[in-house]
Amino acid sequence: MEENAAMTVNFLEMLAMTKEDEHSCADVYELLDQFVELKVRGADVDKLMPKVKHHLDMCKDCFEEYESLMAALEFEAEN
Ligand SMILES: [Zn+2]
Repeated sequence: MEENAAMTVNFLEMLAMTKEDEHSCADVYELLDQFVELKVRGADVDKLMPKVKHHLDMCKDCFEEYESLMAALEFEAEN
């Protein structure tokens, strides 16, 4: 029984490590300018920066930041 518990902990640690591979909000914030610029130029950002895209799908805060950057860049492009 105790052995099983230890295995479960190991498994959870593995999951946590996998999660560390994902971008944090700070990471995304740093990459967002680049992401938005590529997107505005029509690049396939989903393929180029999938981790940022993934984070934006999951994180409302970063998505709102992304939307305001997009709006600002589109406004610049029009004027
Ligand atoms: Zn975030």
